[in-house]
Amino acid sequence: MFLKDKTAVVTGASRGIGRAVAVELAKNGANVVINYAANEAAAKETLFAVEAAGGRGILVQADVAELQSCECLIKAAIDNFGKIDILINNAGITRDNIVARMKAEEWQSVLDTNLTGAFNCIKAAMRPLLKQKSGGRIVNISSVIGLVGGSGQANYAAAKAGIIGLTKSLARELAGRNITVNAIAPGYIDTEMTAVLPPDLKEAMLSQIPLGRTGTPEDIAETVVFLCVGANYITGQVIAVDGGLVMH
Ligand code: NAP
Repeated sequence: MFLKDKTAVVTGASRGIGRAVAVELAKNGANVVINYAANEAAAKETLFAVEAAGGRGILVQADVAELQSCECLIKAAIDNFGKIDILINNAGITRDNIVARMKAEEWQSVLDTNLTGAFNCIKAAMRPLLKQKSGGRIVNISSVIGLVGGSGQANYAAAKAGIIGLTKSLARELAGRNITVNAIAPGYIDTEMTAVLPPDLKEAMLSQIPLGRTGTPEDIAETVVFLCVGANYITGQVIAVDGGLVMH
């Protein structure tokens, strides 16, 4: 149990990638704070899965776009488990539209949740993380769209590229405190977020993936665990987990 007695906060853990991350961290011994925005029933399913994996968890509703909610989220982690060691900024939404038609609200809500949401959680976790003096791990979930852009996804691409800049800057700021900060850039992962895409788009995307399949939430969760369990000498990096879709 590599993460025994560690506390991990996972935002957007009611379903999809966040749920798989919560379960995988629990399998490795971490106590998990399962954050969600609105879907309490789904979040409870995550908690059951965490407990079935032999772990301990709590549910915390919080809108990451609100700094005060993030402060309550981190406080709940500390009140219940005494400390915070790992922060996974995973919560995210899409509001796809071409720029010519994109409404200000579509732009702003994606930036608020996907980029400011990560900043808010980092801000809230910073003081306890530094006070503990025991190092730590921050993993931010970006996207390959943040690396290469996406037609109809300027808001999402801007937020996910912003996550990369945030990750690299924070990695520099926290390196001296033995807190590593990395980003994961998932490719096409089978979740509710991608289930709404038209089948022809999915086919076109699939034909571009060298490994010949779409990804699973577990593919991302394994990489998160890799970064949290060891990876002591890795910080400020962006790891694409995309079946080879984007190669630099
Ligand atoms: P998903 O299935 O749509 O789940 C999104 C999660 O985020 C849910 O738990 C949702 O909570 C939560 N959430 C949304 N807005 C929130 C807010 N304001 N505050 C707190 N939680 C909020 O998405 P996913 O596919 O697992 O994606 C997870 C992350 O991976 C996102 O950052 C996404 O951009 C990124 N990503 C996904 C893919 C992909 O192909 N799926 C590819 C690249 C990157 P509720 O259930 O309560 O709504």
